[in-house]
Amino acid sequence: MRVKRRDFLGAGAGMALLFAGGARGGAGGYDVIVIGGGTSGIPTALFAAQRGARVLVLAKASALGGTLFWSSGQIAGAGTVFQQRLGIEDSPEAHFADCMRINRNSADPTLTRLTVNHAGETINWLARHGYEVLAGHPVTGIGHDHFKTRRYQQGVDNGLSILNAFLPSFQAQVDAGRIEVRLGTEVVDLIQDRQGAVRGVVSRDPNHVLRDIEGRSIVLATGGCAANPRLFEELHGVPLYAKTAYPTSMGAGLMLGLAAGGQIRGGNKYASLPGLIPADHQYPTSMHAFAPLHPEVRQPWEILVNARGERFVQEDHPSVDHIEHGIVAQPGQRHWAIYDAKMLAQSPPIIPKWDRERLATEYLRSPMFTRADNLTSLGLGAQLDPRVLSATVARYNKDLAEGYVDQFARVHRPLPIVEPPFYAIEMQGWTLVSFAGLTVDGQLRVLDRDQQPIPNLYALGEVIGAGATSGNAYTNGMLVTPAITFGRILGQSILPLGSRVV
Ligand SMILES: Cc1cc2nc3c(=O)[nH]c(=O)nc-3n(C[C@H](O)[C@H](O)[C@H](O)COP(=O)(O)OP(=O)(O)OC[C@H]3O[C@@H](n4cnc5c(N)ncnc54)[C@H](O)[C@@H]3O)c2cc1C
Repeated sequence: MRVKRRDFLGAGAGMALLFAGGARGGAGGYDVIVIGGGTSGIPTALFAAQRGARVLVLAKASALGGTLFWSSGQIAGAGTVFQQRLGIEDSPEAHFADCMRINRNSADPTLTRLTVNHAGETINWLARHGYEVLAGHPVTGIGHDHFKTRRYQQGVDNGLSILNAFLPSFQAQVDAGRIEVRLGTEVVDLIQDRQGAVRGVVSRDPNHVLRDIEGRSIVLATGGCAANPRLFEELHGVPLYAKTAYPTSMGAGLMLGLAAGGQIRGGNKYASLPGLIPADHQYPTSMHAFAPLHPEVRQPWEILVNARGERFVQEDHPSVDHIEHGIVAQPGQRHWAIYDAKMLAQSPPIIPKWDRERLATEYLRSPMFTRADNLTSLGLGAQLDPRVLSATVARYNKDLAEGYVDQFARVHRPLPIVEPPFYAIEMQGWTLVSFAGLTVDGQLRVLDRDQQPIPNLYALGEVIGAGATSGNAYTNGMLVTPAITFGRILGQSILPLGSRVV
């Protein structure tokens, strides 16, 4: 049983059949109800069932997999078989130190430790179940600031490599009657007793029939809220600029947890990715193209300016996180790459896979691209103050010509910006994930406003917020890695032998 992206697109009925049958709650309901059948929900259900629990998985989508259908699925762990193959020495301590260095100690240390202590075994479990990585992996990094040690890998089929490793074992538990799956079924409420303990859920099936379902442990694994512009902005204080999250990431679990007495934290850890070229200015917009602006991928030739036409960051800073935080501080997180004809002719294209011809003529197709014969016209066309833009370029050129240290200490300055035509590309800061999430403790129990666990309620995956495990940064793999690792840990500990995570 292997899933491809097209299986999900329009084949929901087939998938529903695939997971028909399975556990029946019977008297007293289920041992575990997992709300969400994605990255974190699948391993939670699987490992709980393997310990003998009767598990119900309720998933709003018409197929199991969640964001794994879209995710790059890049994960990290120390002590893996993939490292051993290449003779790489590593430890959870080194992994922890690298994560906290990259996110400047802004992630939750308890949850980071829980991740790194168990991530190696998670990856080895995947490897034993057919997960294979890209040639040359693990690596130190891909899109974000790099680790010091090679422990970061991507499956040959992105997130689907992880899903395909889980599904046969999951199906075996369905066949054995320990897991029941209801797809296209949304949880709309949690059932609590007078003491606040969660005793079950209210589900709404595809025919809009509401049902009360009893369960001893309820797990929120519903993903984040980066597909819900209103909620995203409310929780982060920043508009949702791009539509890039998986469509079920509507924040339902956040609302369910909040209504049950939980609290939300982490919106202030919002971090932005650079270089999204928007389709239009109707936010959230879709991605027209993407320029990584990552000096490890391509040294910058252009300068970056903000909406006022001023430079604001060292474009070749070795940390892309530094550039990202520079962008977050700019009005509307908008940034423009400014360059001239000679740079276009000599530099590797700023947008990977685009050739120079496309870059030179894209202004005919997209309003985010401007071409002009002089800097005044370029500023007017790109809606930047032409005088400020001209002064910015003049200062950059003068410092370069006279051998002065650059205003932002930039070192890679191959050419001045002098030869017409001149070009501007408008870009936007953006995110694929939400940083705000439910507060949980080291046993993944949802905490109330007095920091006390809400009995029987657990949360994991993006519903606990990227801020919890990735901090105020994009720390390599620190969403998928904890999602699947916490699923394994919680599933193995939740029932029937008690709910302590060790
Ligand atoms: C394009 C992209 C690339 C990414 N790449 C990486 C990467 O390389 N590495 C990394 O660490 N992170 C990456 N991320 C982030 C990471 O993939 C996600 O944070 C993670 O997969 C989320 O897992 P989850 O289990 O929380 O949610 P999901 O996998 O999205 O699962 C959520 C489940 O909940 C269900 N659901 C939602 N609401 C309800 C409801 N009310 N009732 C019942 N069910 C419900 C959905 O149907 C779904 O089954 C990426 C994200 C995107 C969008």
